[in-house]
Amino acid sequence: MTYPRKHLLAIEGLEPPHIADLLDLAESYALLNRSGKTQRDLLKGRTLINLFFEDSTRTRTSFELAGKRLGADVINMSVSTSSVNKGETLLDTASTLNAMHCDLLVVRHGQSGAPSLLSQKVDAAVINAGDGTHEHPTQALLDALTIRRHKGRLEGLVVAICGDIAHSRVARSNMHLLTTMGSRVRVVGPPTLIPAEAARLGVEVFHDMKAGLAGADVVMMLRLQRERMSGGMVPSAREFFRFYGLDAEKLAHAKPDSIVMHPGPMNRGVEIDSAIADHPTRSVIGEQVEMGVACRMAVLDVLARQLPRNS
Ligand code: ASP
Repeated sequence: MTYPRKHLLAIEGLEPPHIADLLDLAESYALLNRSGKTQRDLLKGRTLINLFFEDSTRTRTSFELAGKRLGADVINMSVSTSSVNKGETLLDTASTLNAMHCDLLVVRHGQSGAPSLLSQKVDAAVINAGDGTHEHPTQALLDALTIRRHKGRLEGLVVAICGDIAHSRVARSNMHLLTTMGSRVRVVGPPTLIPAEAARLGVEVFHDMKAGLAGADVVMMLRLQRERMSGGMVPSAREFFRFYGLDAEKLAHAKPDSIVMHPGPMNRGVEIDSAIADHPTRSVIGEQVEMGVACRMAVLDVLARQLPRNS
């Protein structure tokens, strides 16, 4: 297993063998999970803290499940119940976590860079569970695993990432991962929601859904992140759906065997039509959640191997 770091803060900077090894390990956990067997002692005696400064359903619960399946003691700390609300700074929080001898720290924060800052102050291995508009590395891993299971490879696939690219850490991590693994990535959305850095990241930019979806193997929809928008970047939800929402008519431009993804939470009727989200053969949204647990088990496993042994 080749993983070069103590933490997982971003996909940017990882090389193809690091990503491929993580995906292979995650695949073995996916099979183990399906067989109903668990690996209960790998993280025995280890403490995993889920520190969430922003809401989450899927990510927090899947890290919790992943940690428990590997035998860790798992503690969930959310902002509403922590001293951060009482004015404690991020760095004071770090000293508290050190005093608790936390081994693995999963952090979600509204500010880009917060997990990286924490990683410099805590003894634990830190996993970024989403920071501002920066990255969400385990989401990109689970997306890649889901794609690989359906298409058998990542290299050469045409992947269209659609909607609110500018505010999406999911899009950013996916652009890094998929271009690193040789996919042909397109981003599709209105000019106000495409970040200036897109061209630098080696992706093709489209403002028209039909053109952007033409011949795509994978159609990845994103949530409109209104909480991160500072003004009216989209006219209205109805207008957005008309031009950029995924419905059967737009999907018909992608390959007939293309798969449809969404990281959740979904705004049905805004980014995606319910009939497509629930489509029995094209939608792989449920499988993304399943692969999330497997990928997080793989990440915890790999980072725990590098921790000093418990005394
Ligand atoms: N759950 C993902 C994230 O935390 C996507 C989203 O919120 O739209 O970034």
